[in-house]
Amino acid sequence: MKSQQIRKQFLDFFASKKHTIVPSSPMVLKNDPTLMFTNAGMVPFKEYFLGQKTVVDKRIADTQKCLRVSGKHNDLEEVGKDTYHHTMFEMLGNWSFGDYFKKEAIAWAWELLTEVYKIDKDCLYVTVFEGAEDDNLAYDQEAFDFWKQYIDEDRIINGNKKDNFWEMGSQGPCGPCSEIHVDIRSAEEKAKVAGKSLVNQDHPQVVEIWNLVFMEFNRKADGSLEKLPAQHVDTGMGFERLCMVLQNKQSNYDTDVFTPLIREIETITDNEYGTNEKIDIAIRVIADHIRAVAFAIADGQLPSNTGAGYVIRRILRRAIRYGFTFLNTKEPFIYKLVTTLSKQMGENFSELKAQKQLITNVIKEEENSFLRTLDQGLVLLDGIIKNTHGKEVSGKKAFELFDTYGFPIDLTALILSEKGMTLNEEEFSTELEKQKSRSRAAAVVETDDWVILDDDPEEEFIGYDTLEAKVKITRYRKVSSKKEGNLYQLVFNMTPFYPEGGGQVGDKGYIEVSNGNVIYIVDTKKENNLIIHFAKSLPKDTSQILKVAVDEKQRFRTACNHSATHLLHQALREVLGEHVEQKGSAVHSKNLRFDFSHFAKLTVDELRDVEDFVNARIDSKIPLKEFRNIPMETAKEKGAMALFGEKYGDTVRAIQFGQSVELCGGTHVQNTSDIWHFKITSESAIAAGVRRIEAITSDATKDFYFENNRAFFEIKDILKNPKNPLKAILDLQEENTVLKKQIETLLKDKAKNLKSDLIQEVKPINGINFLAKKLDLDQNNVKDLAFDLGNATDNLFLVVGTEKDGKAFLTCFISKNLVEEKQLNAGLVVRELGKLIQGGGGGQPFYATAGGKNPAGIENALKEAEKFIL
Ligand code: ATP
Ligand code: MG
Repeated sequence: MKSQQIRKQFLDFFASKKHTIVPSSPMVLKNDPTLMFTNAGMVPFKEYFLGQKTVVDKRIADTQKCLRVSGKHNDLEEVGKDTYHHTMFEMLGNWSFGDYFKKEAIAWAWELLTEVYKIDKDCLYVTVFEGAEDDNLAYDQEAFDFWKQYIDEDRIINGNKKDNFWEMGSQGPCGPCSEIHVDIRSAEEKAKVAGKSLVNQDHPQVVEIWNLVFMEFNRKADGSLEKLPAQHVDTGMGFERLCMVLQNKQSNYDTDVFTPLIREIETITDNEYGTNEKIDIAIRVIADHIRAVAFAIADGQLPSNTGAGYVIRRILRRAIRYGFTFLNTKEPFIYKLVTTLSKQMGENFSELKAQKQLITNVIKEEENSFLRTLDQGLVLLDGIIKNTHGKEVSGKKAFELFDTYGFPIDLTALILSEKGMTLNEEEFSTELEKQKSRSRAAAVVETDDWVILDDDPEEEFIGYDTLEAKVKITRYRKVSSKKEGNLYQLVFNMTPFYPEGGGQVGDKGYIEVSNGNVIYIVDTKKENNLIIHFAKSLPKDTSQILKVAVDEKQRFRTACNHSATHLLHQALREVLGEHVEQKGSAVHSKNLRFDFSHFAKLTVDELRDVEDFVNARIDSKIPLKEFRNIPMETAKEKGAMALFGEKYGDTVRAIQFGQSVELCGGTHVQNTSDIWHFKITSESAIAAGVRRIEAITSDATKDFYFENNRAFFEIKDILKNPKNPLKAILDLQEENTVLKKQIETLLKDKAKNLKSDLIQEVKPINGINFLAKKLDLDQNNVKDLAFDLGNATDNLFLVVGTEKDGKAFLTCFISKNLVEEKQLNAGLVVRELGKLIQGGGGGQPFYATAGGKNPAGIENALKEAEKFIL
């Protein structure tokens, strides 16, 4: 059976059991402070389990794009080495939110596997939770009794907390689970070793395919469990593993989910899959990682240096380096796989098809830049090897290469072993651990449990219509971190505060407490459907009605920037073309940032056209038309476009200014004329085919023009008010170039003359030609002079002191024959003498330099120099 059909049968089956089929949520999470990626099918529904959102559909089924590369569920290092863990995979799931429980979940799972998919019952094993004393949890007798109706008791295995108690993270909804395992070994092997003994033992042919989780607890901050208000079912079946079973394969990579990619990798790199273990691993790594990276980019997450973007960059780099090392690919090639992938998965995930070009461009550029890093790293590593005495390379040096230059440590180890050398791995691990504990210490956040004052699940947002309100605190908790100290997170029964989201910053403001005192709200964010206000302290009486108010000025400036962002989007599509798509935006009170797909730098004329377009709409005083809670279809008819990687509810909000219509939850001005003026402050590239515009509006533009004007007048003043200031600056620059050249020539001449003078001053001491002198030269010229003198004079021991910008420098040159015959070492000389100028340095035995901060010590150092040869 083809994978397409396997997926369809799953969804059809649960549709027949009255489940609503929903599309996959994005894999990259935006605006979720607790998680970067969807790592399980339950993530898009976690607010239902927490009772923080009202359930509409009690039964849902879907296939969810998951990524397990960070946090509690991290499979990255396994991927490629084994045959059944992926970074990105599809999780098929059925859900009950307070509806059916263990009985139906077990019955339907069994029916689907054995009657629809017709998996041989004799291959199946199931596990049930054995209980856990530390959590005061009993054996899951209920699950056992249901399973017993379908499967031999002998095939029901007890499982411990690690395998049979599912938790998303260290806090949150959780519960016992029952897993279904399949034994796909040959009859011969089954006869030798019983399948039962291999369940949950990391055997590649006895694998877990489906996990049925019975959510009924919430794990609190102190580690204790409390019952959830209702019982839920959350199941997850690995789609790729299911395909392996149904297609009678021994590896996920031999199913039709992966074979087209693997054939393509074989062709492009001229390697054969299935002949050599190392090559096989590399091919699997690449076939897997291209999916994770392509889906992430399609969800709007570009590779970058921080956060989720950095995780994506690391995955791609892992693929590149496996190719580089084991498939011998020295040119970009992974980007070429995007065509195959989008052909194969674009049917079910249209975001891949629609963004194929962008994904290709971004991956190609990442490949190019990382291959350059690898090249540089190889040169640096060569240097390290040359400077290593003995066979072992310092772990510190390797760490530097890894940390500063991004050169992979396993590549370092491999290259060293090829040269018969080793790496001091202990030293490397120590450095790595030091760095990790530094960042861990900075990142530790302690979150207390919610103190619930009023169990009101829906916190009404009233901030579109008012900036002030009288509210009640419904729950609060304390959060402490090194970075921000203690903060209180407050939730109200209703709130005018806009929580960070859709690119717009969260509102700031204050709470009025007794006798005119206020508590500042420093930020507002949304977490699991709750709007959370961050305050430095807690009102003394948490049960009283409180007046809260949003910082009006900040909100207004932010609204100006948000509305301007919509006009900018419209302008870009008008001026540059319909290919422009939003790839990210950040709306603050000070400025706005907008990222969009476009292949070339914008010309000055284009930028001007874009500005003019926006300003024309500001001048036309277009009133805001806001449509709340309208069906998506209606919004689309009005001309709104859904963005990839965004999660939309059943109904949406549309914001219209004339021809500009966008799906948007943000806050806006009432009329475009409020924006006053729009000015682009920068335009740049952030990835291949993705540009960034930064702009300002309103008061900020006044300041911008004022500051620019002032700078201009100051420049003119300094230039003595020329008629044409631009020409005056160009003239100055040219004059400067000419003068620089002249000085260079003069300095060279001076050094030449100096050389003949200095030769006269050389003093023979113990058969060594000695000279120590302070000179008025810069460091480059000193070096030339030292080598010139060295060529002209045998047995030279030279120390030169120089001074520049309040700093002192020492240079030591020793003729090579002296280094050997008399065991002299310029490096040691400058290190010793460097102390006298309060500095240090080093170099090679025949030439070394030191720098320090005490020019007054130069004379002394020169006097001391003689000691080295006496
Ligand atoms: P395993 O022990 O095999 O890593 P798990 O206990 O981490 O699995 P769950 O968190 O229960 O798995 O996820 C539900 C299902 O998703 C599993 O039964 C499996 O079929 C699938 N699955 C989990 N992790 C991966 C992965 N990295 N790649 C592919 N499929 C996976
Ligand atoms: Mg796992």
